[in-house]
Amino acid sequence: MTAVPRYAVFGHPIAHSLSPRLHAIFAAQTGATLEYTATDATPEAFADVVRGFFDLGGRGANVTLPHKAAAFALADVCTDPARRLGVANVLTLLPDGRIEADSNDGAGMLADLRGRCDFDPRDCEALLLGAGGAARAIAFALLDADVRKLVVANRTFERAQALAGALDDSARTGVSRWEALDQCDAFDLIVHATSAGVQHATFALPTSLVHARTVAYDLSYGAAARPFVDWARGAGCAAAFDGLGMLVETAAASFERWHGVRPDLDAALRSLRDGSVHPPAAAPRPPSFRRG
Ligand code: NDP
Repeated sequence: MTAVPRYAVFGHPIAHSLSPRLHAIFAAQTGATLEYTATDATPEAFADVVRGFFDLGGRGANVTLPHKAAAFALADVCTDPARRLGVANVLTLLPDGRIEADSNDGAGMLADLRGRCDFDPRDCEALLLGAGGAARAIAFALLDADVRKLVVANRTFERAQALAGALDDSARTGVSRWEALDQCDAFDLIVHATSAGVQHATFALPTSLVHARTVAYDLSYGAAARPFVDWARGAGCAAAFDGLGMLVETAAASFERWHGVRPDLDAALRSLRDGSVHPPAAAPRPPSFRRG
């Protein structure tokens, strides 16, 4: 009997992840046979757990917070986007046994922003909140998409500085201390790329970051996105989106890489929105962002 091909998502925490459900939807759509599980791996254990997964026949893995730099580091080869960023959210077992790292977060977010949110970031002034693995991919993608200006703000200021430095485009990039966000002008686009939501943490944002045409985008989804999305709507943003569309875009790209077939993204997104996006009744709801 042929073993069912195994795939997985690794993160810490991981309970919020809809990736197993999404890959099951894609498998049902396309007739692919697969097993897809979610594994909580601490930073200390991550490399051993992932290597063990591939040693025991795993074919591919998605990687989420906080492991994107570690995923890039453990791979044997990498695609051009992953090499440029130094982070990866997709690991694939190649036919010769090597592990390939890829990054599709930036492309997935842009596809969702342009396609479903109907927002073209070209020539806009953008604020990026966060400087972790996902924020890094988003920063490069927004510059590639020709934003006029990108300001990076992060709880740990040194990481914002390091990310801005890596972008190597001082004419278009700036940094702000988190505590000094109230001294910034309003932005056309605000992207929330911190993990505060999934960690049930909260922080304050000044409403002066918003003007009447500001679009807000949270990479998180489900309950984790509610505080920022609620803040954005309350602060007067023209529109506020969660990252579920981005998740579908990036998962579909992984699925196509592994199974050679493109699933129906909009049908999968509808299915997620109708079903399991809402947290179970017992799950704690993160406290709301305060209005500044
Ligand atoms: P990382 O762990 O690499 O980075 C976490 C970031 O969040 C850091 O900038 C960190 O700041 C910041 N942060 C953590 N806690 C707080 C807090 N309490 N207040 C303010 N800032 C905080 O995570 P990733 O970059 O991989 O992921 C970030 C988020 O994006 C996650 O919620 C993840 O689920 C989501 N995501 C969604 C995707 C999708 O497809 N929709 C794809 C990728 C990510 P510091 O440097 O100070 O520690």
